[in-house]
Amino acid sequence: MGSVGAKEVPVLLSPEGLRIDGRKLDELRPLSIRAGALHQADGSAAVEWGANKVLAAVYGPREVHPRHLQQNHKAVIQCRYNMAAFSVDERKRPGLDRRSQEISKVIGEAFESVVFVEEYPRTSIDIYIEVLQANAGTRCAGVVAASVALADAGIPMADLLPAVAVGKVGGAIALDLKKEEDNFGEADLPMALVPQSGRLVLLQMEGHLTEPELAQALDLGVKGCREIYEQMKRALRERYAVGPTAGASS
Ligand code: ADP
Repeated sequence: MGSVGAKEVPVLLSPEGLRIDGRKLDELRPLSIRAGALHQADGSAAVEWGANKVLAAVYGPREVHPRHLQQNHKAVIQCRYNMAAFSVDERKRPGLDRRSQEISKVIGEAFESVVFVEEYPRTSIDIYIEVLQANAGTRCAGVVAASVALADAGIPMADLLPAVAVGKVGGAIALDLKKEEDNFGEADLPMALVPQSGRLVLLQMEGHLTEPELAQALDLGVKGCREIYEQMKRALRERYAVGPTAGASS
């Protein structure tokens, strides 16, 4: 244990190379995805990922509000990421702060590059992401949930959009950081991948990495995204499978 001011810094990586929750460096937290979790939305999904709990609801294509945002040649994607006041240890001030605005913007832009927006001019596709419980990686959980919700709404897209944060903890590159690793680690790098093209459409970074570390982090993140992609497809297959128990939520 080292210390920063009064705060104890936990040991993030054991001598055996295991992380604070016993995971290996390339291991995801347990992930469960349910498509069609809400009845009122056109499309929806619930994601539990480690200790994160995130809901996404999608509406549209529908009339644009406010009207002046309407685009004549394409649909606009309006995304709202929100963290509930009760989602974190210390109560978060409710409402859209700068962080939520930034995350809403980068997620909206990521979906602009996969949704076939030209097919629905003068409409809006509205994505609501509600974080009910947060433990790092909520923007990635939000992207995964929103992506499945868009597919559930039947909105044409080039591909689903798996996302994950990679980082550096205890000097090593690690997949899917949890809260302590995000807080006390050396870097945090959330990303979203278009699996079929291999293109990254969301990439942010906090902290410091060398060039070789960055390459390693991107490689690990892409692998993680491909694992998540399989689970996203499975969730959609489960929702739309034919049979007496299929689509139980609708
Ligand atoms: P992400 O959730 O995408 O990793 P950040 O890196 O900004 O986004 O946040 C990491 C974690 O820090 C969040 O998942 C959450 O657990 C916590 N956190 C973020 N904002 C707040 C806040 N305003 N109050 C308390 N905890 C927060």
